[in-house]
Amino acid sequence: MKNLGEVAPACPICSGQDTVFVSKHADFPDVGIWFCSPCNHWFGYPEPDIVEIDRYYKKRYGPRRRKYFGEEYYVLMERRAKAQMRFIEDCLSRSGKPGNLRGWRVIDWGCGVGALVAVLQRGGVDAVGYDSDFEAIKVGQKRWAANNTFSSSYDLSVLQGQFDLLLLSHVVEHFPDIRRTLGDLLKILQPHGYVFVEVPNCSAEMFVAPVDTESHLHFFSMQSLMKIMESVRIQVLTCVSCGPPKISAVDRGEISVTSNCAKRFAGQIKVRLENTFERLGFRARHVRTIYDGFYEHYSPGENGLWLRCFGQIQPSAPLDMHLTHDSPDELADRARPT
Ligand SMILES: [Zn+2]
Repeated sequence: MKNLGEVAPACPICSGQDTVFVSKHADFPDVGIWFCSPCNHWFGYPEPDIVEIDRYYKKRYGPRRRKYFGEEYYVLMERRAKAQMRFIEDCLSRSGKPGNLRGWRVIDWGCGVGALVAVLQRGGVDAVGYDSDFEAIKVGQKRWAANNTFSSSYDLSVLQGQFDLLLLSHVVEHFPDIRRTLGDLLKILQPHGYVFVEVPNCSAEMFVAPVDTESHLHFFSMQSLMKIMESVRIQVLTCVSCGPPKISAVDRGEISVTSNCAKRFAGQIKVRLENTFERLGFRARHVRTIYDGFYEHYSPGENGLWLRCFGQIQPSAPLDMHLTHDSPDELADRARPT
C-alpha cells in the first residue's frame, strides 16, 4: 500500500497545495481523504481509476443500495423529489422566470430509481434520467413509468446543447476528475441553461470518528460547493442547507454523516413495513419516512444535512463576483411549514 500521507496533493477545486491528510478512505484502500482549508473541502486522493470505480459500483455500491429498495425508500425518494422540484420552481420564480418547467427539456444525471424524473414527467416536463444501475432504472420504470435510461459513460457528446436543465442530485460527490467531469456534463445544456445540485453537507467534526464514506470522492461544505460551481461557470443563484440538523442527527446515531444514507435505515425496517402495508392495503401516502418534516426544512446557518443549489450557465462572460445569494436565513423565512 502507498503511504497515503506522504505527499500533499493539490486541491481539485482551487489547485492549492495547502492540503492535509485526514484519514484513509473506507471504500478504496489506496485512497486517502485530504482537506483543503482555503476551500473547506475534503477529497479523495489519489483518485481510483475509472476501471476500479466501475468495479466498485457494480460489486458493492449497487448491491448495497438494492438492499434498501422497498416502500419506504421509494416514498422517501419521491418526497425528496417533490421538494427539489418546488425548490427549482421557487428559484425560477424569484429570478423572474415562469415558475414551472412545463415544456422544458430536463436531464437527471445519476437518476437512480428516477423519482425526480417521474415527478417532472407528471408536471408536463420532457424529462429523461440516466444511470449506470440497471436494477434501479427498472424499479422506476415499473413503479412510476419513469423515463429512465441506462448509461455507463460520462461521454454525452451526442446530447450536446439539447437540454434546458441538468439535475445532479447526490451524484457530484461521486465524480472523479471533478472539474473536467462537471465541465463535460454541462455541454449538454443550451447556452444559459440551468443546473440543480444537491449533495451531503460536510464539516470537520464528521471526520473525527471513522466515517461511512459511501464511495464519495468529494465531501462538500457550502463554500466548496459554490466554489466548484463557479469554477465551471455556473452562476450560483441560490445555495442553502436543508434537511434535518446534521449534528444532532449524527449525535443520535440516526443518520449517517454523508447523507444519502436514508436507504440504510429504510432497509432496517423495510421488510416489516412492506409486510404491514401489503396486509393492510395502505397506499404510499401513509408511509412514514425518517426525513418527514425535513424535505423542505431550510436551516438557518449551514446546519442542514444537505446542500441544495441552483444556478445558471454563463457561457462566456466573466463571472460577476458581486452576485447576491439567497442566504439560508432568507430561504428559511420563506419555507413552508412542514
Ligand atoms: Zn482548495
